[in-house]
Amino acid sequence: MPKFRFFPNRMEDYSAHADVSVDKERWLSRIKSLIAEILEYIRGEKSTDGGLYVGSIGVAYMLCYASEFEPLHDRKMVYLNEASDVYKFNRNYFDRHRPRDSDRTSFVLGEAGLNAVGLYLGSMTKNKSLVSANLDQYLSLHKTFLHLNMRCGSDELFVGRAGYLCGIYFIKNILGNQEKLDTMFELNQGIDDIILAMIRSGRSLAAKIRSPTPLMYSYYDTLYLGAAHGLSSILQMALQHKTFIEKHPMEAAWVKDSVDWLLTIQQPNGNFAPAMDELSSPRSEKDELVHWCHGAPGVIYLLARAYLIWKEEKYLNACLKCGECVWQKGLLNKGPGICHGIAGNGYVFLLLYRLTQDKKHLYRATQFANFMLTDEFQSKARTPDNPYSLYEGMAGTVCFLIDLLQPEKAAFPFFNVFDDD
Ligand SMILES: [Zn+2]
Repeated sequence: MPKFRFFPNRMEDYSAHADVSVDKERWLSRIKSLIAEILEYIRGEKSTDGGLYVGSIGVAYMLCYASEFEPLHDRKMVYLNEASDVYKFNRNYFDRHRPRDSDRTSFVLGEAGLNAVGLYLGSMTKNKSLVSANLDQYLSLHKTFLHLNMRCGSDELFVGRAGYLCGIYFIKNILGNQEKLDTMFELNQGIDDIILAMIRSGRSLAAKIRSPTPLMYSYYDTLYLGAAHGLSSILQMALQHKTFIEKHPMEAAWVKDSVDWLLTIQQPNGNFAPAMDELSSPRSEKDELVHWCHGAPGVIYLLARAYLIWKEEKYLNACLKCGECVWQKGLLNKGPGICHGIAGNGYVFLLLYRLTQDKKHLYRATQFANFMLTDEFQSKARTPDNPYSLYEGMAGTVCFLIDLLQPEKAAFPFFNVFDDD
């Protein structure tokens, strides 16, 4: 028997028109015990490496998120105090050790992510000076991103422009109407400029390599297609700013043509190849990646955003195909996280539920949550290297379980395609 990257899905699928009930008490108690376990760990060890992705600041993000969740309001102050400790620890570290440029600017891996969480924490604790200090720091990176020219590639999500935009959208959403109009104006103009720089860069590479798409990007010389370092999340961040699409029709058409090209390479099973070079030599089914980072569970956010912007059924149909693929092959044995784990794939169904209101998807999300409690998963799944982290570990699982209980608001962390900014 070949060893697959996923457990076979033997769970019962949704039967038409059945009612779906999510056992609130059960999941709430699970959420509380997971957070208690994470807190015990984080009090002893706060990693400053790995940023939001696998560092302790990603856990602080989860604690802020949990403290916003009404059924956990009795623990709100405990969670926010813990988040504040983690934030201060990370801030002191960055203040003491002047980080290298890429560590300072990276949203997912570096100090930009710390600034975004600091602002979130400041907003949750009504600490205006914390909000403004972190906002200033985040905005001070704008010029660097405008002219960023890293050898590895300057546009993708983890260290490049797409990540910076991802953080700006998150920040704008938190600030809402609280901030002065001139700050909002500055943000909007700043976003347009970064998207334009990202598009110039994609045009230039596409021309150089004779890409079939008007826009193409590379990261360490690989033409990735998925959410982690690839084309899909870069295009998604361009589409997230609706006024850009309205103001820049030519650039918007390049983005749309690139999205439409992605539709042509969606595999019959609904998945997407991780990178361009794998289109001509696809992986065997055993090695296929059905992860948020690489594959349909990450590309779906772009397709959903395209559907919300252009309202064409083809995008929704492609999303539904992603969902079928994830149902078949998404019970990953790499663990419970959101990057390449079951919670990340469960988020696909919460997205589809928000898009369609079809209870089938909420049911499937619940089944994925259930699977993480089975003996099969507990005994055979791998323990990630960073088991408490946001992207690889339990902090991400907690976000997913909270969203399972509030599906009308559910959104993969920092990937809320429903936010119109
Ligand atoms: Zn991953």
